[in-house]
Amino acid sequence: MISPPETANQNPEIGLVAFLASLVECSDDAIFGLTLEGRISSWNKAAEEMYGYTAEEIVGQPVIRLSPEARIGEMEYNLERLRRGEKIPHFDTVRITKDRRLIDVSVRVSHVRDSFGAVTGAAVIARDITEQKRAREALASANRIKFQFLDNMSHEIRTPLNGVLGMTELVLDSELTADQRESLSLVKVSAESLLAAIDDMLDFSQIDAGKLKLEFIPFDLRESLGDTMKMLGFRAQKKGLELVYEVASEIPVELIGDPGRLRRILLNLVGNAIKFTERGDVVMTVRQESLTSEVSTLHFTVADTGIGIPAEQHGAIFDPFSQADGSSTRRFGGAGLGLAIASRLVALMQGKIWCESELGKGSTFHFVVPLQVQERSRSNPAPVNLDALRGLAVLIVDDNSVSRRVLRRMLSRWGMNAADVPNGAAALEAMRIAKDIGHPFPLVLLDGHMQEMDGFMIAGEIKKNHGMAGATIMMLTSVGHVGDAARCRDLGIAAYLVKPVRLSELVSAICLALEKTAGEAIPALVTRHILREVRSRLPDLK
Ligand code: ADP
Repeated sequence: MISPPETANQNPEIGLVAFLASLVECSDDAIFGLTLEGRISSWNKAAEEMYGYTAEEIVGQPVIRLSPEARIGEMEYNLERLRRGEKIPHFDTVRITKDRRLIDVSVRVSHVRDSFGAVTGAAVIARDITEQKRAREALASANRIKFQFLDNMSHEIRTPLNGVLGMTELVLDSELTADQRESLSLVKVSAESLLAAIDDMLDFSQIDAGKLKLEFIPFDLRESLGDTMKMLGFRAQKKGLELVYEVASEIPVELIGDPGRLRRILLNLVGNAIKFTERGDVVMTVRQESLTSEVSTLHFTVADTGIGIPAEQHGAIFDPFSQADGSSTRRFGGAGLGLAIASRLVALMQGKIWCESELGKGSTFHFVVPLQVQERSRSNPAPVNLDALRGLAVLIVDDNSVSRRVLRRMLSRWGMNAADVPNGAAALEAMRIAKDIGHPFPLVLLDGHMQEMDGFMIAGEIKKNHGMAGATIMMLTSVGHVGDAARCRDLGIAAYLVKPVRLSELVSAICLALEKTAGEAIPALVTRHILREVRSRLPDLK
């Protein structure tokens, strides 16, 4: 609180007025008085600078002169409220200066009353926020550019990787000498680790920007973990470590949550445990901390007998890019994003994550997450039928010629007849001709990310056209977005897969998508996760 200085030998009231007047004069904000008729009654120095009018020019003039044409209605409305004695809330608006420049201002209006309490006018404080607004807009636009860039990068990287992995798988599927097979297997492993590193970076940027939404789907925890642990088991074995895991029997079979992200957290924690342990074992356990009729709270632990983490690092290792020992990068590799991703995913799931560790003895990572319990259990439908694929006419729509070739070869490997086109217009034309000659395409594989017409637009066109609407549509995309699944459902798209797509994954997804169109009880949209869930129904395609 500022109080006026005590000045001896002076009328204190005159002292106060002089003090307030000097405060108004030295303010950085424009301050001016208004009469009830809407005329300006006083005008400080900052107002002169902001609006360009001197006090002589503007005092006595209607305040409407400060408003651009488009905002006059708003100003008149506020003057009306002032006359009625109503409070005018703080607002942001646009004003016009003497030299016809538009400025963004933030305005506060306070009533001036006479000694009987009647409103006689108003004091207005206006702050120029043009720069502030410009900076905010620049930041928003920089963020938009950043996401566009990430999307493009994701596409530019996944598309060739799709080619590398797809072709490698196809060649591995043919006659090879032992030497060739070993070399090519190494290509595959390398491409897969490259993909994992890229996924980490892209995922982290998405989570960091608050662009990641969790799935909310029924899943079987044991099934879902089985796969992940099998894969990690191979990695542990190679280092001569034992990987043990245990899921407590009281945990409900069917839960609801985001199984993909849960796997992701475990992959990072168990992956680290294997990476930082030279001998001994890695043990993963899941216990149920509590169970209500709706929610099962699960406590996961991942314990290793590795190098351990110094106590002062226990908090920081969850920060992005941080590594307990700066020098460890060369020895162990890694971008320092795994734990940051895990901890953010746990937080999104409303859970907690922490670690206990002693240097040289080993580490134990814990996380606790609540998951909804699913009541009814799903029946086990019959296995999918691969014979249905023989001779099936499939249209591939992809603007990348390597991607088209990979897909064509994958499909012909299972006896399908594939035709391919590079864009949406050609796709619609091909579908129209096929329909006219009485052999419409029962299946269309759409690339999600193409110039001019993207996969969603093409799907929309197909849906609109009655003659083509019967086709089963599958979307293959190199860039996943929040809301894609919902868009797919709206457009009647049967399956949604993120590239690179594996041979076995593709053929399984096709089988399920075709069944789905035929009205079988297939869960919603066929995705990578659903393929894992119904694995028992799928033929062993490896
Ligand atoms: P990255 O493994 O890519 O470096 P993470 O975020 O997964 O990144 O881990 C951050 C750091 O935490 C690691 O670099 C390592 O120093 C430490 N750390 C994580 N898990 C373990 C573990 N199980 N044992 C020892 N140190 C670990």
